[in-house]
Amino acid sequence: MTQHFDLIAIGGGSGGMAVVRRAAEYGMKCAVIESARLGGTCVNVGCVPKKVMWYAAQLSHALHDAAEYGFDAALTAIDWSQLKSGRDGYVARLNKIYARNLANSEVTLIAGHAAFASNNSVMVNGETYSADHIVVACGGRPAVPDIPGAEHGITSDGFFELASLPRRVAIVGSGYIAVELAGVLNALGSEVSLMLRRQHLLARFDVMLREELMEQMQDDGIRITTSVSFSSVERADDQTITLHTDDGVMDGYDTLIWAIGRESKVNGVNLDAAGLSINDAGFIPVDEFQNSVVSGIYAIGDVTGQAALTPVAIAAGRKLADRLFGGKLDAKLDENDIPSVVFSHPPIGTIGMTEDEARQQFGDDVKVYQSRFVPMYYALTARKPRSVMKLVTVGATEKVVGCHIIGDGADEMLQGFAVAIKMGATKADFDNTTAIHPTSAEELVTMR
Ligand SMILES: Cc1cc2nc3c(=O)[nH]c(=O)nc-3n(C[C@H](O)[C@H](O)[C@H](O)COP(=O)(O)OP(=O)(O)OC[C@H]3O[C@@H](n4cnc5c(N)ncnc54)[C@H](O)[C@@H]3O)c2cc1C
Repeated sequence: MTQHFDLIAIGGGSGGMAVVRRAAEYGMKCAVIESARLGGTCVNVGCVPKKVMWYAAQLSHALHDAAEYGFDAALTAIDWSQLKSGRDGYVARLNKIYARNLANSEVTLIAGHAAFASNNSVMVNGETYSADHIVVACGGRPAVPDIPGAEHGITSDGFFELASLPRRVAIVGSGYIAVELAGVLNALGSEVSLMLRRQHLLARFDVMLREELMEQMQDDGIRITTSVSFSSVERADDQTITLHTDDGVMDGYDTLIWAIGRESKVNGVNLDAAGLSINDAGFIPVDEFQNSVVSGIYAIGDVTGQAALTPVAIAAGRKLADRLFGGKLDAKLDENDIPSVVFSHPPIGTIGMTEDEARQQFGDDVKVYQSRFVPMYYALTARKPRSVMKLVTVGATEKVVGCHIIGDGADEMLQGFAVAIKMGATKADFDNTTAIHPTSAEELVTMR
């Protein structure tokens, strides 16, 4: 017999978990269908294990610096399997917490792969489940190029399965995942080559961030090759990987990581049966309220092509439940001024318009403030990573429309400034805030 729910979410990742738990708070009968591990990309192969690896990389840098602060701290080697098992154990604990949270919210967990049977029902393991509202939250997966031998490479998913530290690794891509994996592996001792199809890292970021990061990654010993595209990949009997480019070869790698972007995970979901389809970019189109073209079916998170960030998927899910069941008829995701961080070395924090975007829209009304310095932490070290901060302001009031930071602490610094910018802070508001000394963050309120 078909089991009926008020709401079913396909996918138990950031978005799916958020929508069912909020809907359950309103007393709705909800189910979430998950074909793999609860928590989705973020918990299992994204933000969480990535951040653990970033902490390990930070520690590696700190251990090197410690000697210059007078500590008798020799960094000899990293026990990769200890790091991996600690990280995997943490993720497994989170999986259990997610399951417990669902049980506490009295949400039914259905394990298996969901495919639409109609516009109000799905099939899982031969059983049919129907609902008044169905939310597609099946996320994304890493893209792999369609070239011979591509299977010799791994993706970010495979990175988290590596049983040992690669000795010589090629990372192909220019987005934040490519940058983050390159920084981690370099800090932990791999010889890293980063290969970009175009000329810049982080295409949509402020030019200052892109240029500064590339320079600092190169200073750190990462080899960056720009304007390169690959025609095929080979793996020799000794397991060495060779990449064939349009005009030569790049060889001698033991690991190849594709980080060329992500695509939506709608394969096998049988969208046709529900009357849904994907757009040219491969995503499920939705309006600002997450409505798909079919009444009663919604999509949230990475499957929509909206900003692919966990807090965005969560906010979209919660707002949707607020609107459908909480009487908040206007509730919707606010896509303006979404702050984001790149866990590079050093990290990046960014919100709002880039300088180029602001100049295109506001022309000469734009005034930019920038500060470049070496944080005091490096006063005693030979290593001198720089911090650079940029405020983009507009108009006579100098409303801050963009804030871009690269440097130690940028990741933690941005959240508070994001609140101020979201509230419409002006440069004068920044100036009128007493600095906290000595910090890097104080530069943001003392710029001239
Ligand atoms: C390496 C990496 C690092 C990242 N770092 C960050 C970060 O630092 N900060 C940040 O905010 N974001 C980060 N992200 C992005 C973030 O993980 C995603 O934006 C977020 O997980 C999207 O949530 P979602 O609910 O849309 O999809 P997901 O979390 O991917 O969840 C989708 C779930 O649906 C399941 N599923 C798919 N199809 C079906 C089906 N047919 N039936 C049943 N279940 C199905 C999948 O198994 C999956 O569990 C990172 C991503 C990656 C890959």
